[in-house]
Amino acid sequence: MRVAVIGGGAAGFFAAIQAKTNYPAADVFLLEKTSKLLSKVKVSGGGRCNVTNGTSSIAELSRGYPRGAKLLKKLFATFQAADTREWFESRGVQLKTESDNRVFPVTDSSQTIIDCLMQEAKKLRIKICTKVNVVSLNRHDNFWKLQYAADQNIPQNFDFVIIATGGSPKRSNLEWLEQLGHAIVDPVPSLFTANIPSDPIRELMGVSVPEAIARVQGTKLESQGPILITHWGMSGPAILKLSAFGARELADREYKYVLQINWTGIHNHDLVRQLLVELKEQHSRKQMNSVRPFSFTNRFWDFLLQKAEIKTETRWNELPKKSFNKLVAVLTRDEYQVHGKTAFKEEFVTCGGVSLDSINPKTLESKSCPNLFFAGEVLDIDGITGGYNFQAAWTTGFIAGRLENKC
Ligand SMILES: Cc1cc2nc3c(=O)[nH]c(=O)nc-3n(C[C@H](O)[C@H](O)[C@H](O)COP(=O)(O)OP(=O)(O)OC[C@H]3O[C@@H](n4cnc5c(N)ncnc54)[C@H](O)[C@@H]3O)c2cc1C
Repeated sequence: MRVAVIGGGAAGFFAAIQAKTNYPAADVFLLEKTSKLLSKVKVSGGGRCNVTNGTSSIAELSRGYPRGAKLLKKLFATFQAADTREWFESRGVQLKTESDNRVFPVTDSSQTIIDCLMQEAKKLRIKICTKVNVVSLNRHDNFWKLQYAADQNIPQNFDFVIIATGGSPKRSNLEWLEQLGHAIVDPVPSLFTANIPSDPIRELMGVSVPEAIARVQGTKLESQGPILITHWGMSGPAILKLSAFGARELADREYKYVLQINWTGIHNHDLVRQLLVELKEQHSRKQMNSVRPFSFTNRFWDFLLQKAEIKTETRWNELPKKSFNKLVAVLTRDEYQVHGKTAFKEEFVTCGGVSLDSINPKTLESKSCPNLFFAGEVLDIDGITGGYNFQAAWTTGFIAGRLENKC
């Protein structure tokens, strides 16, 4: 039995390792078009590789996927984040979970993850071939014939093929898979930050607000978490999550939209009002800039006061009702005109790809092509930041590597 895994990234490595573990007598070939293996793992997490997430709850883990959550939720019953941690730790990779639940190797080096995967592949005698660009596949009687972009000294005929070619922002890169009968969901970028050109808030770059609520006006898109002010606009978990869940809607709007921010993180605006009334009563004779609510920094609180057209040295008991109302509005419904997006630390993923309708959700086998499987970001699956994208690669690689043929 001969197996080809196309793509030498996280999903391809994991699929190849599982295929060889499950079928030790098989010849497993891992085919990578570039000269570099696991190149995204190398640069991931700022070179530290956020290898998975720290949660052990399948329900919680599944909530990190704007696309593919339903399918993954079922597959996580077989291989989830806790299994990933166990898998690496049992192979000598010590892991640590940071306060925001991101999991990294204790070495803080992605090379540790690469070394582990390479050693495992070597131990299992997986045949790794770089500079092999697979351009098409053709089904013959009972095998697949692969076409390479250039002559290669490796077999072309395989019993099983696993496609793990990663996400692609260009639809044209997915045409060869479309020709095989798979529906393609138009790819658009996910995970990006908001450009807010020429707004004074950018002068506060570096300021972080710990618990805000971000909304896209005129949509149901909403997310909660820290917001970081940058020199081009806004970033941080709340903005990135919004970009992931709104990837398609925001692309349709050409990344021009009104971002509505509730800086307090409290949904109930009456409660915010009440908290400010209490503050006003407690500190009635103090200047407003000396009493900061919601753990805001000095600079940020001064900025909000100015935005509400309140002089920072105003005493709380001197605040007119109109200004008080304006302050509540700025705190809970502040608005920014977004114009464009910026990649988040070059970390981007693709929303779209091979439609999940085209594959068997239990085995990840193609519905149109027997013995052809998919794993990783080539599928219409993507996650928010926090190790979710690698977890999808490990899980789908694990399942695809079972080569369960239900056709
Ligand atoms: C800068 C950056 C940082 C990131 N950091 C994190 C992080 O810390 N945590 C996290 O969870 N996610 C992170 N991500 C997302 C994560 O890296 C991807 O979701 C994940 O790598 C997808 O794995 P994959 O194997 O499906 O695809 P890829 O890693 O993209 O691998 C696909 C491979 O297939 C090869 N290939 C493509 N077409 C062919 C072909 N026709 N023939 C042969 N080979 C082919 C490609 O050259 C590539 O090597 C990051 C992404 C980026 C860009």
